[in-house]
Parts: sequence; structure tokens; C-alpha cells
Amino acid sequence: SPTRLVSARASAVTPRLVLVIVRDITERERVEEMRRDFVANTSHELKTPVGAVMLLSEAIESAADDPAQVRAFAGRLHAEASRLGQLTGRIMSLSRLQASDELAEVRDVPVDQVVAAATEAHQTQADAARVELVRGGERGLYVRGDVQMLSEAVGNLVANAIAYSPAGSSVGIGVKAVDGVVEIAVTDRGLGIAETEQQRVFERFYRADQARSRRTGGTGLGLSIVKHAVDRHGGDVRLWSRPGQGSTFTIRLPQAEAPPKNPHKRKARS
Ligand code: ADP
Repeated sequence: SPTRLVSARASAVTPRLVLVIVRDITERERVEEMRRDFVANTSHELKTPVGAVMLLSEAIESAADDPAQVRAFAGRLHAEASRLGQLTGRIMSLSRLQASDELAEVRDVPVDQVVAAATEAHQTQADAARVELVRGGERGLYVRGDVQMLSEAVGNLVANAIAYSPAGSSVGIGVKAVDGVVEIAVTDRGLGIAETEQQRVFERFYRADQARSRRTGGTGLGLSIVKHAVDRHGGDVRLWSRPGQGSTFTIRLPQAEAPPKNPHKRKARS
């Protein structure tokens, strides 16, 4: 235990070193505890859709003589299977983010590319929900990082904005640079989030109450992935929201210089 280790070493080392050792141990214990919780929560969350898939496949077997019933069960089976797919995909993203402190690939990333990828990935969802995606703001900005991770983070915000918005409304995705910080803001005119829940929504598997009753989908992992991915890039996420009025999630990242226009030409000359 940390206390024993400290008392054993206390006589030999300076107080500051003791403090560093204690901090290091508590940090490691905290990470270890987070891992344990994650595994426990994940197993729990997976049980429900896996159980549903089992039940529905059995139901299809026993309804074999009734085509209408088979079709109905098959539809529900498909929905549960895609939910399971989304859940496992997000669990993998999150464990990849938690597994290492290093970004897989770091380069100059055009913010336009991130926003395009994030909106394109959810255009079908937006069309189905009859929500309009509106892009705006500055073009030609750059950040440094992993383009895939950033696109997934912005994509998760877009997906939520659509999911928690009424049909006929629009979701804005705006970009601007302020004092060396690139801000990517996703704004909706949807449900909104109560002040008491605004901190908690970034926790793993946390889902606010209204959202739970509104739809069965969702994993409670989307914002946790956003937070981890943005942290990893040296940025932060801010949330403004008012119940009944809507929400704005803003990802803030250190701005990078635009890379030289034609790197190939440059290389050839040097
Ligand atoms: P989920 O898969 O449930 O959307 P998230 O981690 O992405 O999981 O979000 C956590 C919770 O935060 C959601 O269940 C919902 O209650 C709330 N939330 C997230 N984004 C929005 C939004 N744009 N508007 C209203 N509530 C939101």
C-alpha cells in the first residue's frame, strides 16, 4: 500500500521526493481503478444487447411458420445487432484512447477535412431525422493531430446534436480561430441539458434522463470519447446548454501553422 512504502522510504529521501512517489502511486491506482470500472461497466452494458440478440434469434426460430412475425422479429434483431455494433465500435475507440498516451499519427490536419468527414459520416442520420446540417465559419485553418481521431470526436458531437434535436430544426457546425486556438462549435436547438448534468455527460456510460426516455439508442460513450480525444490533442471541450433551448459543444485545439502550399516542389529544390 502507498502508506507503507512511504514510511519505509521516508527516512532516506527528502519530503518532496516522498510527495512525488505518493502522487505517482495514487495516480497509478486511479488509472488501475478506472480500468477495472471500465471493464465491469462494459461487460454490463454488453449484456443487454447480446441478451436481446439471443432472445430474438430464438423467437425467429419458433415463429418460423408465421412470416409476418418472422419479419417483425428480424427487424428488431437488425436494430439490436446494429446497436451492438455501435457499442463495440465505441468501446474499442475508448480503450484505444485509454491504452496509450501517444497519438497514432500526428500531422498537420486541415480543420475543413475534419468537419467534412464528421458531417458526411452523419448525413444519412440527419436526413432520416429531417435535421439540416449547416456548415459555417472560417476555412483553411489547421491543427496538429490525428485526423481520424479528430473526425470521430467532431462526428460524435454532430451525431448527438442530430439525435437530440426535433425534426425540422438545424444543426450548425462552425469554425473560428481566436488567439491561436481553433474552435469547432456544434450547435443544436434541441432538448438541452440541465445544469446539474452538464459535468456528468462526459462520464463513461452516463446518459441524461430525458435522453434515455426519448430513444433507445445511444451508448453513453460518445462524449467520453470526445473528451479523451481532445485531451490527447492538448485541447478542451466546453459546453453551453439550456434545457428546451439547445446546446453548443465547443472543441478547442491549439492552432497550427498552415503547411507550405506545395511541399513536393520545395523538396525537389533542396
Ligand atoms: P449517448 O450515446 O447516450 O448520446 P454521449 O456520451 O454521447 O452518449 O452523451 C451522454 C448524454 O449526454 C446523452 O445520453 C444525452 O443525455 C446528453 N447529450 C449529449 N449531447 C446532447 C445534445 N446535443 N443535446 C442534449 N443532450 C445531449
